[in-house]
Amino acid sequence: MSKKGQGKKIQQQREHVENRELYQRMNFLYQAAALMTTTTFVQESTDHNTKDEKSTAKRNKSYQNIGSLGRFYLNTMRNIGKKQVLRIEPSVKRNICKRCDSLLVPGFTSRARVKSRRQKQLEIECSECKAIKIFPARKDYQLFSEKPENIVGASTNESSGESQRMT
Ligand SMILES: [Zn+2]
Repeated sequence: MSKKGQGKKIQQQREHVENRELYQRMNFLYQAAALMTTTTFVQESTDHNTKDEKSTAKRNKSYQNIGSLGRFYLNTMRNIGKKQVLRIEPSVKRNICKRCDSLLVPGFTSRARVKSRRQKQLEIECSECKAIKIFPARKDYQLFSEKPENIVGASTNESSGESQRMT
């Protein structure tokens, strides 16, 4: 095999991701849902009583978005994850309402408040179904998956990562 071919093979091995197609599909659905939720369009219904004069035509403007389609996309995304047992990135998971699967965009589809009880908490309320998510808002707070000792390959080399995957 030529040197170039070997290099290509190594690159392919490095880029191999298990369930890549599913992750790509989930990524696409998430992005599509974000677009559906945040895009508003103006629906203009014009009464054409007087065809020659535009100024007298009555116009009813209503702002709508297709958030329900976004919820459907996110529901599909979560079902793929559940069926294939794929982990969803915590930052992505935090943006999805647990109850109604709508995308939580602060000030748009959700309301975020900081509450100081025993410790400071970030409360995110879904404006669609009023479900509340509570996250600790400490300065040094780290998710389990964000802690360096829990990340495979961050501190140790690849061989240990492989052994962990086997178990
Ligand atoms: Zn909700």
